[in-house]
Formats: sequence, structure tokens, C-alpha cells
Amino acid sequence: LSTRASGILSSVGISTSDEIYGVYDGQWKGSGEIITSTCPTTGEVLARVKTASPKELEEAVGKTREAYKVFRNTPAPLRGEILRQIREALADKRDALGALVSLEMGKIRTEGVGEVQEFVDICDYAVGLSRMMNGRVIASERPGHSILEVPNPLGVVAVLSAFNFPVAVYGWNLALSLAAGNATIWKPSPTTPLCSIAVTTIVSRVLEANGVPGAVASLITGGKETGEAIVASPDVELVSFTGSEHVGRIVGKAVQSRFGKSILELGGNNASIVMPDADLSLAVPAVFFGAVGTAGQRCTSTRRLYLHRNIATEFLERLQKLYGAVTPADPLADNTLLGPLHTRAACDTYEQAVQHLKSIDAEILTGGNRYTQPPLDVGNFVQPTIAIPKSVNPNDHIWKTETFAPILNAAIFDDFEQAIEWNNAVPQGLSSSLWTRDLRNLGTWIGPSGSDTGIVNVNVGTSGAEIGAAFGGNKSTGWGRESGGDAWKQYVRWSACTINFSDAAPLAQGVNFPA
Ligand code: NAD
Repeated sequence: LSTRASGILSSVGISTSDEIYGVYDGQWKGSGEIITSTCPTTGEVLARVKTASPKELEEAVGKTREAYKVFRNTPAPLRGEILRQIREALADKRDALGALVSLEMGKIRTEGVGEVQEFVDICDYAVGLSRMMNGRVIASERPGHSILEVPNPLGVVAVLSAFNFPVAVYGWNLALSLAAGNATIWKPSPTTPLCSIAVTTIVSRVLEANGVPGAVASLITGGKETGEAIVASPDVELVSFTGSEHVGRIVGKAVQSRFGKSILELGGNNASIVMPDADLSLAVPAVFFGAVGTAGQRCTSTRRLYLHRNIATEFLERLQKLYGAVTPADPLADNTLLGPLHTRAACDTYEQAVQHLKSIDAEILTGGNRYTQPPLDVGNFVQPTIAIPKSVNPNDHIWKTETFAPILNAAIFDDFEQAIEWNNAVPQGLSSSLWTRDLRNLGTWIGPSGSDTGIVNVNVGTSGAEIGAAFGGNKSTGWGRESGGDAWKQYVRWSACTINFSDAAPLAQGVNFPA
């Protein structure tokens, strides 16, 4: 192991021995299949992780259920106090954990640290929430009666997460789930096991120091079969799944078939629309960050760009200048803006998409190639690409599918209605962004005839959400909402309780049924 990698692993408490345990349910273990964590920048194998055997998986689910039965009786403000301590422990390790995200996932260091900050922020939010998860008292139509809506803990929440946010997505779920009194099982992406082991090490220490069973926040690493087994388990009340549309469709159906609850956070295919009155000094860098940031591997990355004819030429010239100035490099190095793709397979997907663009005679304004020369050939580096397809045919694969790589497809429009129609014409509905200074455009954009996505921004790019609002997308993005807003209400079991404190027992709606 390189000195740099072993330094980062040690700083987050991960042993640098040959094989490490990838399962935690109060104890660390793992005697199942081995998965490998590979650095996308250098190709170096960072660790071999021992995942759960089928028996260990069953045991871990059972222990999580037992832990839930203890934890559900802990008063919510005390759960909040534990979250406050988790927040402190994470903040202490913010830089080290951020570096690990950068090393294992491949995003640049400030984005890695930003992800840990997001976990810290949602813990703050959940500490407050732990004193505000209020039910309601409703006026009854019957004298001497009262109706309550009561939130209680839900049970076991399974969090299945994607490779591109190996810390924050779990954070959003863990914080709300713990505040609500649940126990959580985390099944992370098989390509980012080290981030999950580091986070679970930090969280479990806080739980244990508070006398709470560690299995309140269990970890089960593994691949597809592990995911399938967790999703199918009747011991899991809620499956919160973040990943591709393809897998989300399978998971959604599997959970529904046993009448479980699910939250689905699936792929995005996000557009920015630039109006003729837009402030280009704000819009150009924002589109650049949206399309090139995280090497195009955010669910909210900007993938489609619709430019008004009057500003299209100037916009593209200015954008190309920024593209021309960005050089891919080690994501851990200062000043790097563009790191590698996460896997070799992602480079193949990128190349196929470029090939398809060429086959439909799209103009490739910039980019289009993989880096095959040293020193970048050992990593998964590709050129960020801007393409102008000949037409905007919403049925063409290039417009309607999410390619998880830095490829931006641009088109020119003449009227705003046309641009909104294109924005809404794809199956996905995660994020969208309008650039304008005209209030009338703003009103249309956020209203009934406007954007149909879950995140509808104005003079803000498609990516980079804060935790305060509920995050998620519509249509084939899965309709899930996580993080802020009312998202917490999904992590509890609601009871409508009608209570009679009178000396009579009248029926509702005046129904008469004398016995
Ligand atoms: P993926 O769908 O390949 O994997 C996601 C998770 O599902 C992994 O943990 C994986 O092991 C597991 N899995 C695979 N097959 C399974 C099965 N049959 N049953 C149960 N679990 C299974 O996704 P990925 O490549 O890791 O992540 C990229 C995708 O995630 C992109 O589409 C991106 O847009 C999406 N994403 C969405 C959001 C959002 O909030 N909407 C956030 C981040 C990422």
C-alpha cells in the first residue's frame, strides 16, 4: 500500500492489514466473499474487505431488530443527544474522512470534505428534530372525544447507497432514522466499502459509549445478492434506496411485493435553461461546475443545456474557455478541479456515449477522449465533453438516458415554452435550473406549466443542494424525498388514535346501531 493511502486509512481508524472486516452488528466480522476497494486515480488496490456470509447477514438483520426494540424506548431528545455526539465525532474527523472519500471514490478533496460536512449538517438538523417530531390533536365530531395523530418509531431501516456519495447519503438517512427511534442497516456500494467502514467505526463508538447496542447502526457490505437479501427481508420496514433507475425498478417492485415501505432516489438527467436576459458571468461558471464537477458523477450533474439563440454563441465560447483550462489530475492535490471516473467500466460507458453522439452526427465542441498517456493512464480519466446533437429528439437515447460521465449535450431554442417542453420531455425528474432576471419567467418556471422536476432552481445550477429542503426527484427518479423538509415523516409509523373520555360511545357520522 502506498504511504499516502496507508496514511489516510490509519487517520480514519482503518487497519491496513491484508483483509479487513466489512460487517458490523455490535461486533466486527466477515467470512463471506471478498470485495476489493480500488483507487480510481492510481489503480492501486486499497484493501480487500471480507463481506457477510449468508448466515452472518441473517444474524446481523436479527441483531438490528433486537437493537431496535431497545432503542425505540429511548426518549427522542436523548436520541438527539446521541446524534449530537455523533456530529462532534464526525466533525473531528472531517478532513481525514473527506480525504478517504477522495481516495476511494475519486472526487476532489473539497467535495469529499463537503460530503462529510453534509453529514454533520444533517446531524445538527436531526438534533433539533428530536425535540420537534410532533404529532397533532384533531377536533372530533363526537362530544367528549379527541383524535391524536401519533408518530412512533417505524422499525428497521435499510439504507442501500450508491458509489458517488459514499458518506452523505447514508448520513441523511441515519440522522433522521435515529432521531425517529429506528435501527439502521447500511448496505453501501461494493466499490466504496472503506468509507462505510470508517463512518461505522465512528458512529458505533459513540453508540457503545452511550450504552446503546451498536446494531442500532449495522453495516453489511456486499454486492447485488446481499442487497437482494436485505430488500426481501420481512424484518426491514423501510428500504431507502439510492442508485440507478435500473436497480431501483427491481428494488421498488421487490419491496412493494411484500408491502414494505420504500424511498427511491434514482438517476437524474438534469437541464439548465439560459434565457437571453441571463447574467452570463453567473450562468457560465455554474453550468461548468454542474457538468464537470465530480467528473459528471452527481445524480444532479448538468447533462442538458438549452440556450436561447441570442446568447448561444457567446455562452458556448465562454464555456469552452473554461473547459479548455481544466486539466484532470490527482483529486487529492490542491487546485485539482477534475478527478477520474470511479471505475474502468464508467470509462467504457463514456466512450460508448461519445461514439453514439458521433454516429448521429453530433458536433463535438470539445473533449470526447479518454486519457491513455502516462501519468493519467493508470487512472480512469476522460475529457469533459460538450456536444451539439443535430436535433432535440426526446426519444433519442442521448437525450433520454443518464450517462454517468462529464458529457454535456447542448441545443438552441427560440421560445421559453419550447425549452420547458424539452426540460420535461425526459423520463427522469430530479433537478433543473433556469437562468433569467425576468420575474415573469421565474413565475412560469416554478408554477404549474413549469419544470416538472423535484429540484427547480433559479439562477442556481442543477447540483449542490443544501440539507434544509427535502431532496429528491419525480417520475423515473423515483419520487423519493430525503434529508430536510417533511422527509422525516417517512421514517415513523403514524397512528390515528381516537380517544373517548365521555360516558357515552356514539358512532361517527351519527350512525345508529342500538345493541
Ligand atoms: P447502482 O444502482 O449500480 O447501485 C446502487 C446500490 O444498489 C449498490 O449498493 C448496489 O450494490 C445495490 N444493488 C445492485 N443490484 C441490486 C439488487 N438487485 N438488489 C438490491 N441492491 C442492489 O448505482 P451506482 O452505480 O452505485 O450509483 C449511480 C446511480 O445512483 C446513478 O444513477 C445516480 O444518478 C444515482 N444516484 C441518485 C441519487 C439521488 O438522490 N437521486 C443520489 C446519488 C446517486
